[in-house]
Amino acid sequence: MERDFKRVAVAIKSEKGASSDRIISFFTSDGEIVKARCYGSRKTIKGLRIPLYSEGVISFYSQGSGLSSVKDADIISTHEDVKSDWRAEMLFSLIAELLLSSPDLDGRAYSLYLSSLDRIGEAGLYRVGIVFIVKFLDFLGLSSDYKVCPKCLREYSPDDVLGYSPTLMSPVCSECDETGSLYPLYPNARKYLARMIEVSVDHAYLLNVSPMMERRIFSYLLRLLHFFPQRLMSLNILERELE
Ligand SMILES: [Zn+2]
Repeated sequence: MERDFKRVAVAIKSEKGASSDRIISFFTSDGEIVKARCYGSRKTIKGLRIPLYSEGVISFYSQGSGLSSVKDADIISTHEDVKSDWRAEMLFSLIAELLLSSPDLDGRAYSLYLSSLDRIGEAGLYRVGIVFIVKFLDFLGLSSDYKVCPKCLREYSPDDVLGYSPTLMSPVCSECDETGSLYPLYPNARKYLARMIEVSVDHAYLLNVSPMMERRIFSYLLRLLHFFPQRLMSLNILERELE
């Protein structure tokens, strides 16, 4: 394995390491996770500071297995917007958990992540959360098209209120519902989500929805994430914060 390598990457998680070191998880533009030690300032080594959510060209050094280390970083953007809102930080901590527990990601997930960071100030927490969750689950093949019940293959009629199937991790028709109607999805919300699946990420941000509906759909999606195969620690905290 090459010892030195360079990637366009973004810092998605930053943990305290020994002394003033940080252990940073980077998400690279080709969808890989690189975990690396970033040396803090010490007498012997010149410190390098890479704030969480920074995007840049990162030079790594790898000893073959385990942690790499960061040799140098040319930071393009630090996405300070995220840090001005505690709830936004919680959302991005949830997003980091989703990325870190999903193998086989690619450049599409990277663009989606970057557009979430870029838009949090303008589009707001709910919109960014909805677009990220819907598109990300779609990339993972865990999304339905919100048009046909994936269990009985019946096409939904315009007024159908959908149920949910934890087995399929998907909304289903009311007859196929496995939750005793605990996760209803109403027609307008369904139409919005169906449209979001069809359009590009940029277009998804422009879809019209009322602020109240936006909040409802966001909390609906958060509730569904409890069925995600890996346990997401930030989920409960974010949900409590939104109550
Ligand atoms: Zn069905």
